[in-house]
Amino acid sequence: MRKLLQGVFEFRALRRSAYRETFARLALGQSPDALLIACSDSRVAPNVFASTQPGDIFVIRNVGNLVPAPDQPPGASEAAGLEFALRRLEVADIIVCGHSSCGAMQALLASASDLPRVSAWLRPAAPVLARFRAGARLPGEWSDADQLSQLNVLAQLEQIRAYPEASERLSAGRLRLHGWWFDLSGTELRDYDPTLGAFVPLDEPRVQAILARMDADSAPGASVPSCAAVGVRAEAAGLKHHQ
Ligand SMILES: [Zn+2]
Repeated sequence: MRKLLQGVFEFRALRRSAYRETFARLALGQSPDALLIACSDSRVAPNVFASTQPGDIFVIRNVGNLVPAPDQPPGASEAAGLEFALRRLEVADIIVCGHSSCGAMQALLASASDLPRVSAWLRPAAPVLARFRAGARLPGEWSDADQLSQLNVLAQLEQIRAYPEASERLSAGRLRLHGWWFDLSGTELRDYDPTLGAFVPLDEPRVQAILARMDADSAPGASVPSCAAVGVRAEAAGLKHHQ
């Protein structure tokens, strides 16, 4: 907490004046580029690895970056956030971001009995664990928890497709889905490549390729965004429609 309060002090003393114009504009309304669904883990820092600024992204964070099924009883903040991001903010992109050394995935693997609330929260991810135990793997020399985390990102992307407001927009070419995975020890943000069926470094060539594809998709007469193809490989990996 000391560091946090020191940060408040530093912001007021050093950076507040530089942000006045930004926040004055944002006070009139937000128009974020994307919805980011990420793990609560303190090390997942989009302001660092994606250089985000206030107003850039609408964020849902929870333990294990899970998306509840749309037919769950009302009240889930994640479902409310997703609905608001799509129906009010009309975000064109949704990113599910997992990460290495994820405590949630480790707890899921270990069936941690000393974390009953965490275990209850992670119960919807049981089908992903079952698939992992049945041998589902993505390319790369990753630990079991990291493999599970990557499979989990794909499963959550599929879950998003089950929301009518998402599937309608995907079909109309107004929404793209992205799977990101932050490798902490490698300081490497990875992006799921549906063609390769793997999370690959989001380096400059890949960023340029994605931007070019987005430009092509948004051109007049373009078909459904190619990023939507992410579900094809997820389905092939047996990750479709987990509940
Ligand atoms: Zn995590």
